[in-house]
Amino acid sequence: MAGSDILVIGGGIAGLSAAAELSKSARVTVLEAEEQIGFHSSGRSATMVHYALGDRLVRALTLSSRPFFEDPPEGFTDVPLGHQMPVLVYARDDEAQALNALDAEISLFAELERLDAQGVHELCPLLRDDAHHGIADRNGIRLDPHALLQGNLRQLRRQGSELRTAARVRSIERRASAWEVTTEAGETYAAPILVNAAGSWADQVARLAGVAPVGLEPKRRTIITFDAPAGTALDRLPFAKTVGDELYFAPESGRLFASPMDEEPSEPCDAQPDELEVALAAHRVEERTIVKVDRIHSRWAGLRTFTRDRRPAVGFADDAEGFFWLAGQGGFGLQTSPAMARIAASLILGKPWPVADGTPGELSPGRFLGQPA
Ligand SMILES: Cc1cc2nc3c(=O)[nH]c(=O)nc-3n(C[C@H](O)[C@H](O)[C@H](O)COP(=O)(O)OP(=O)(O)OC[C@H]3O[C@@H](n4cnc5c(N)ncnc54)[C@H](O)[C@@H]3O)c2cc1C
Repeated sequence: MAGSDILVIGGGIAGLSAAAELSKSARVTVLEAEEQIGFHSSGRSATMVHYALGDRLVRALTLSSRPFFEDPPEGFTDVPLGHQMPVLVYARDDEAQALNALDAEISLFAELERLDAQGVHELCPLLRDDAHHGIADRNGIRLDPHALLQGNLRQLRRQGSELRTAARVRSIERRASAWEVTTEAGETYAAPILVNAAGSWADQVARLAGVAPVGLEPKRRTIITFDAPAGTALDRLPFAKTVGDELYFAPESGRLFASPMDEEPSEPCDAQPDELEVALAAHRVEERTIVKVDRIHSRWAGLRTFTRDRRPAVGFADDAEGFFWLAGQGGFGLQTSPAMARIAASLILGKPWPVADGTPGELSPGRFLGQPA
């Protein structure tokens, strides 16, 4: 049986970033079911750092994470973790009030420019004429998720911790003062602390351990890629989003990508795009922009997994010693990962709260105890 100080279940961004942070002071083993890291949600995202989603706490966690992306720790990566991409949230006249409300919320976290119709079209010439209002954050970041995942992996290995892939956890038992975890391949690992960073599967992992689930809701989101009109200056386009949750699009590897911002409830699974959502994505692109989607080049789907209040569940379970939750990162798991990793490590190691905003209680998984899962 292999022993360490901390076992982490899940080799997505949540598990790897927490493991990299924890491995500064503990021996950590990460167990990932798939043969590669980031195979599920972390490898399928829109990879933005922006403030147009989530509530105050999510925005604060995003703000706390930015310096890490802009200036990663020494030796973390040989390539930039992302590049600057402006974020434009736009509105028709009938949506202007919603834009005002969002402006007031985001302004607490980012320097925003208010744009009139001319400004909106200068920043994004692909929008239809009815996009009369906009707010722009010129400092948005488009992340490189591969660099982020690999950087965390490199850091945890350098600090003497390890990742086991093709290690799907099948059973979990608390014996004496340690969690004993057995994989489908029959290997057994033990540690006094178990971190549940299993993304959409985190409630299932909790059940395996006899811990009450927090009631996670995985929701599928679809993305398509397609050609931009000939002559489009792709490198100058922003990440452009309707003020309501209707459509976003941005440049992607010489083409455009778009999502109809679907939130279809799903079981935890290898999410596949649904044809109706693919068609809806193309329809909304044509409805809100001047782009004609003649051919869909590629499509994919991933799960965004939410708690009931859409804030992550981070902290020790109240009903099981040494069982730590790191789940419910919804649509913001990449952009909040540095702050979340520091929070997880400080709660596990008994250190002071490491970020400017938020409290342990706001993230505590105990807030769902006693509620029906
Ligand atoms: C379309 C889309 C767009 C998004 N856009 C953004 C964005 O712009 N910005 C942003 O910050 N976030 C975005 N997100 C959200 C972000 O991708 C997620 O919040 C984040 O990836 C969640 O990370 P995770 O590590 O919790 O989950 P995952 O990456 O799913 O990792 C969980 C891992 O646990 C493993 N696992 C599960 N069960 C077991 C088991 N029994 N044993 C061992 N391993 C197990 C799984 O194999 C998986 O690899 C988007 C997501 C989607 C789908």
